[in-house]
Amino acid sequence: MKTILVAGGAGYIGSHTVKYLLKNNYNVVVVDNLSYGHKEAVLTSNFEQIDLADKEALDKIFKKYKIDAVIHFAAFTYVGESVSQPQKYYWNNVVNTINLLDVMIENDVKNIVFSSTCATYGNPQYTPIDENHPQSPINPYGKTKLMMEQIMADYETAYGLKYVALRYFNAAGCDKDGDLGESHAPETHLIPLILKAIKGEIPQISVFGTDYDTLDGTCIRDYIHVEDLADAHMLAVEKLFKDEQSYCINLGTGIGKSVKEIIKSAEKVTGKKVPLVYGERRAGDPAKLYASNKKAKEILGWNPKYTDIDEIIKTAWAWEQNKKF
Ligand code: UDP
Repeated sequence: MKTILVAGGAGYIGSHTVKYLLKNNYNVVVVDNLSYGHKEAVLTSNFEQIDLADKEALDKIFKKYKIDAVIHFAAFTYVGESVSQPQKYYWNNVVNTINLLDVMIENDVKNIVFSSTCATYGNPQYTPIDENHPQSPINPYGKTKLMMEQIMADYETAYGLKYVALRYFNAAGCDKDGDLGESHAPETHLIPLILKAIKGEIPQISVFGTDYDTLDGTCIRDYIHVEDLADAHMLAVEKLFKDEQSYCINLGTGIGKSVKEIIKSAEKVTGKKVPLVYGERRAGDPAKLYASNKKAKEILGWNPKYTDIDEIIKTAWAWEQNKKF
């Protein structure tokens, strides 16, 4: 049985991936500092509450367990905050990840799956976005992720590190069994905010811009179910065990949905109206982002199961009504 160390395994995508790995007979060790994650979301007893800044503690964990591969989710992800507090993002997302890579190399662990993002592309020059699209991030968050892709490439040359950088589009939805879900504080993402507005937990949502060059004037994004992301991470680890080669791969459904379409779907799923106002554009939001997922299908043999936005929102609504944390 292979052992996977999941850094950030108490977070949204990390916790779903841990559950998926356990179901598929992997031994899983979670490290998380719980700065944003939830202890209740960790479904393995192998849990170590440490910060990746603490190299010594990290080294002890690599000596305690025989780790075959690492999946690294631990990062700060608020784009707006990364603009106002870049220091926080460079220290955590870059410096602490270098710590993790160094401890891996020192302990002869050479396989890592890394959470990257479509934010590394910046303003798209064309859609769908494939992996050859130029990478020119427009905020510090996207820059930290691009830097890590580049650093991992250098570690491959120097130390033989093998990595799969998974560039996610918009993660959405929740565990279909209701054990896990999306629980950010603060919440900034469209789908959970819409569902909170429907519940009356917040007064309304604001639609950020209605004058974009899209069919209905609102922004288009590619919403990918968190269980499909979990599946892709497991396939990526298995690819590393087989191929010993590095890859950068997009993860999206390849389907673009506008903000208005998401609102319509949420109203259909819940049978309730979304209280909303039409507001100004949010700084740094490109009109259209959706993925070419051809490479993920070809290289990983991955196929997203959730391609119907109503089905994705149904899982998010079930969680929103019956949250465990
Ligand atoms: N959005 C919106 N109102 C909100 C939050 C988001 O209109 O309160 C829009 C946002 O402009 C973007 C889309 O919804 O086009 C998805 O935003 P989210 O923050 O969920 O993810 P992002 O695309 O920024 O990663």
